Amino acid sequence: MTVNNPGAPTEPRSGAPVVEPRQVLRGQKALVTGANSGIGKATAIALGQAGADVVVNYVTGEDSAEAVAEEIRRGGVRSYAHCADVSNEDQVKAMFARMVAELGTVDILINNAGRQKDARFVDMTLADWNAVISVNLTGQFLCAREAVREFLRRGVVPSVSCAAGKVICMSSVHERIPWGGHANYAASKGGIMMMMKSIAQEFAPHRIRINSIAPGAIRTPINTAAWSTPEAYRSLMMLVPYNRIGEPEDIARTAVWLASDEADYLVGATLFVDGGMTLYPGFTENG
Ligand code: NAD
Repeated sequence: MTVNNPGAPTEPRSGAPVVEPRQVLRGQKALVTGANSGIGKATAIALGQAGADVVVNYVTGEDSAEAVAEEIRRGGVRSYAHCADVSNEDQVKAMFARMVAELGTVDILINNAGRQKDARFVDMTLADWNAVISVNLTGQFLCAREAVREFLRRGVVPSVSCAAGKVICMSSVHERIPWGGHANYAASKGGIMMMMKSIAQEFAPHRIRINSIAPGAIRTPINTAAWSTPEAYRSLMMLVPYNRIGEPEDIARTAVWLASDEADYLVGATLFVDGGMTLYPGFTENG
């Protein structure tokens, strides 16, 4: 059988055609954590194209962060790069304080920064465990808390958005799919799911919308080994019914929509953007 595989590593990038973005976020102020690479970078650029001013957070790689901010500014909105470790409370507070001072407020937080430090469970050190939980889960807690504090202070500004603020947590299909050899990562994403739902419930009465995006396999540096050789790509596609890898822009477009008023009634939801990875593809021909 010939498999149409438009996203194989040797082929041009796969995904939906590029369409002219609409200015659905005009006048809004967005912060994207881990925005100098992969999904965060694509999302920061897409938010800018949709009319938002964007803070590009990074922890290492100043040059790439400055390049993302420069690309966003070329679209006519404001943007700057800000170095902060999302797992460090003082640095997170200082990052939000600067954003309020320079851009006036925060309307959108994309809680994206994340990492992996894989090990067989019996070999996993406490340092491996803490490294992942402190960025992926505690980092999302610290940033969401500062954002919600600012949303509550400011309230709804109807000319900007019908919500008082939006948080989008970057989760993973591994908030649902167990992942041997990655217990720290899967636990962090499972934790994000319940943190997201709990704070979505707590702050919905204030017109604050908190949701998650759960990407499947997206072509970024975090998972190069899973897609960069034809063998690895073929084996990855056994898990993806839609038969192409996801591109960072697939997630970026979802984030723009979810942050916009077009998604105003979405509260406490996880959107799985995964080409069907969570559909148990192993059962396709086992009926
Ligand atoms: P990536 O490695 O390209 O990007 C991760 C970003 O997070 C980088 O910019 C990195 O510098 C930043 N970061 C790491 N530690 C940080 C810290 N302490 N403070 C601030 N920033 C920090 O990987 P990606 O695939 O773009 O990952 C982005 C998010 O998407 C992560 O939360 C990841 O778990 C999630 N995700 C990715 C995939 C995938 O297939 N690529 C799938 C599901 C979920």
